[in-house]
Amino acid sequence: MQHQDDTASLLSDASKRLDRALKYVNISEDAIARLQHPKTSLSVSIPVRMDDGRLKVFSGYRVRYEDTRGAGKGGVRYHPHVSLDEVQSLAFWMTFKCALLDLPFGGAKGGITVNPKELSKAELERLSRGYIDAIADAIGIDVDILAPDVYTNATVMGWMMDQYSIIQRKLCRGVVTGKPLELGGSKGRDTATATGAFIVIQTMLPKFKLTPSETTVAVQGFGNAGSAIAALLAQAGYKVVAVSDSQGGIYAPQGLDIASVKEHKDQSREMKAVYCQDTVCSIVEHQTITNQELLALDVDILIPAALENQITKDNGANVKAKYIFEVANGPVSSDADEILNSKGVYIFPDILVNAGGVTVSYFEWVQNRSGWYWTLEEVNQRLKMKMRQEAEETWNISQEFSISLRTAAYVHALNRLGTALDAKGTRNYFVKS
Ligand code: GLU
Repeated sequence: MQHQDDTASLLSDASKRLDRALKYVNISEDAIARLQHPKTSLSVSIPVRMDDGRLKVFSGYRVRYEDTRGAGKGGVRYHPHVSLDEVQSLAFWMTFKCALLDLPFGGAKGGITVNPKELSKAELERLSRGYIDAIADAIGIDVDILAPDVYTNATVMGWMMDQYSIIQRKLCRGVVTGKPLELGGSKGRDTATATGAFIVIQTMLPKFKLTPSETTVAVQGFGNAGSAIAALLAQAGYKVVAVSDSQGGIYAPQGLDIASVKEHKDQSREMKAVYCQDTVCSIVEHQTITNQELLALDVDILIPAALENQITKDNGANVKAKYIFEVANGPVSSDADEILNSKGVYIFPDILVNAGGVTVSYFEWVQNRSGWYWTLEEVNQRLKMKMRQEAEETWNISQEFSISLRTAAYVHALNRLGTALDAKGTRNYFVKS
């Protein structure tokens, strides 16, 4: 999978989306100026004792981009490409995502520059606890709340919550979401990103008179979100014809049995189109394809569910899908947006499509604060209500102003952010003459 080498331009590329939306909102200059900059950016060094006795020092970050509408909120990413610029861009997106979904949160994000696959479980735990030691003063249940992101999961969140509680000398469940159920996690949080994306797809497709059985789908990325959205779509009767991971993908025009692919991948770490594991089951006819080939497949729906900047000005013209649902954060660069918009591709943006994760994180935070835990049905029903409502509103704004769905999503979020920022006042007692 490609990763942008010049990460220095990520935040400025992200803020181009803001510029495009500004002419459709009535927002003060003060509010715009504040939204151009992250509020706090913390860079830390995390010394970790490795299993062989050496000390290794890792770089970590936590950025609180904006917190007028509520405490900072956002995941923690473990990836070799993590940089301050990337974390700032991801925190920027979280700000708009939380406003779009009308969650009482601002936007934040964290990350550690590390390849977690090279660490033992004990090293990973020491690194996660060390990260919390380093950023403890910058987070809290009403300050900034952590969650999983790329290559972090419930186990890591459990360690982080525990470490923060040790530092505070009291149980602090609500400072981290996406925890194991046993430690105060919410039902449905593990699959919430995919469930939310599925709700958006199901809400939007009837507008184009598409039915599941005649809709072909390709999914890039087979992590937590990618594998779950592929499974949900396949279960609902969509024809999922291609999936991939960072090594490459598989393509079968007749459709893949996603449950079997997942089972095989979980067991062997390899991508293979098998229907089942015993001798009477056969390997499905399939082609192996590269990630670039997957992105260029002639399918109805393309779902980038891996990393940012996968569709750029270099490969945007190759995209043949008519609908893109962004399950990853930032998979389409702003110049690729222009290419795709001019081709008439509908891009359903990340800040809407993948917002199911943070929405159920919000539910988890509410449950932790109240001590009253919900059933899976309650979680999913509330998630559905929120996702549908904001998806419809985004659609209506795009229709009203004849603008892209991405710009519409920013307009919708900006209206909420702008009024909140203005309500707070200037605090500097300056009167223009
Ligand atoms: N990392 C997820 C995201 O990018 C979830 C964030 C959260 O739950 O706070 O939306």
